[in-house]
Amino acid sequence: MPMPSGRLDADADAPRYAVFGQPIAHSLSPRIHATFGRQLGIALDYRAIEVGRDGLAATLAEFAAAGGCGANLTLPLKETAAALCATLSPRVRACGSVNTIVRNGSGWHGDSTDGAGLVRDLTVRHGIDLRERRLLLLGAGGAARAVLPALLDAGVGETILVNRTPQRADVLADAFAAHRVRACRWHELAACGAFDLVVNATSAGHGATMPHLPASLLAAHAVCYDLSYGPAARDFLAWARAAGAARSLDGLGMLVEQAAEAFACWHGAHPDTDPVYAALREG
Ligand code: NDP
Repeated sequence: MPMPSGRLDADADAPRYAVFGQPIAHSLSPRIHATFGRQLGIALDYRAIEVGRDGLAATLAEFAAAGGCGANLTLPLKETAAALCATLSPRVRACGSVNTIVRNGSGWHGDSTDGAGLVRDLTVRHGIDLRERRLLLLGAGGAARAVLPALLDAGVGETILVNRTPQRADVLADAFAAHRVRACRWHELAACGAFDLVVNATSAGHGATMPHLPASLLAAHAVCYDLSYGPAARDFLAWARAAGAARSLDGLGMLVEQAAEAFACWHGAHPDTDPVYAALREG
């Protein structure tokens, strides 16, 4: 049987799962899924496999031939993966981004658990009521597209999108115009009033600088959330604290929650995420 690229030689009897991405070496997903499996007594072999967009189709075919049952997709593969799936969940049809695939007969079924992961982290872990919150969403990439429908489903109120490349924010806002969503330009933000919730779904924290954000964006009791975590979330969260945010949160909880949603897709059981989150927080 052909073996996929990566490290699929140990635990030969356990059902195979993986996270594909580029770069992938520092992914926390293998640790998270191994811990979930131990917690629920489910044997699994979950590896990180490095592959770029061009190699994804062949690597997924290899993985399936070697018995791969399911996988996660991360940067830069989420849209490419959607095109390779035989079937897509309604969540993917709403956002065009796949982060979880399940082997289904002779093809892959694509799903997106990022939005559910963010909403669960905000509402269940942090106890935040999202209903009618005025939302500013920074970014219009894959993650922004994945979290917007979930935040709207959770009941957020008027929503403004801003993106470095304004046309991408326009396209996203147009797709959700029926839900009080509109785009604005970055330089117009100061005139947009105050927001209850500001979600940073840009990748600017990975070594770039974000355009200026006025402190006047934050309402009293505003919550600021960066989808990134670790050093990549540092600058945005420092801005949030300096601007007077009541809560400033990073995306580590979302990472654990989207993984738990993927785990439930594959294994039919939802793990307890709190101990895994606490362990990752400790380092
Ligand atoms: P994409 O590459 O699809 O999108 C990147 C977005 O960031 C685009 O909107 C891009 O704007 C914007 N951007 C990039 N650089 C800058 C900059 N210097 N200033 C302003 N905007 C910028 O990435 P994703 O959407 O997949 O991921 C976004 C972030 O979310 C990443 O940091 C990722 O790690 C994080 N993430 C976290 C998850 C979690 O579980 N915690 C899950 C998924 C993502 P433009 O359109 O102009 O290029």
